[in-house]
Amino acid sequence: MNNSILYEVHNNLYVNLTNRCPCACVFCLRNTTDHVGNSDSLWLDKEPTVEEVKRLFEARDLAKYEEVVFCGFGEPTERLDALLEIAAFVKERYHKPIRLNTNGLGDLVNGKNIAPLLAGKVDTVSISLNTPNEARYMENVRPAFGEGSFAAMLSFAKECVKYVPKVVLSTVATTLTAEEEARCAEIARSVGAFYRIRPFE
Ligand code: SF4
Repeated sequence: MNNSILYEVHNNLYVNLTNRCPCACVFCLRNTTDHVGNSDSLWLDKEPTVEEVKRLFEARDLAKYEEVVFCGFGEPTERLDALLEIAAFVKERYHKPIRLNTNGLGDLVNGKNIAPLLAGKVDTVSISLNTPNEARYMENVRPAFGEGSFAAMLSFAKECVKYVPKVVLSTVATTLTAEEEARCAEIARSVGAFYRIRPFE
């Protein structure tokens, strides 16, 4: 079985929809490896269609996974329509909790407020906060949208809290000082989200 589009990490099944991303994070895994978990290379020859992804789900035993996670070598909201259609399919067919791991810039990518579209389809949104302020964000995340991206990401997080049961803001271990992490925890609290420090891999 080819594991470039669906792949396993721990007890979860991950979905790699695209290699497109408007960021160039200094700690991006894409700089140092080509696979994660049991995946083959996560660099896609071409983006899979919705039907192809559905067929890959149908070829698996979903009972053994705890969660389905949209996360790969790119930003999932670059393919918002496909993401929403596949999430709805997985929920209806398999009744699995669904998580979206995102850089939080989906509103800028899609030119609209996307959080309401996630309602009923996504159970957890994990957003890469990464830094406690815009200056550090520009240094570490290097978003193609330039200044204003940090504010757009926080605005998306606030909106998600209204529509999605669980919202997490995360930073990467070892990339921030303790003071910066404390500030990030405070930002998460202020938008009504959980804070998580994810391991540097
Ligand atoms: S947002 Fe994710 S995929 Fe995009 S550059 Fe940053 S770590 Fe890599």
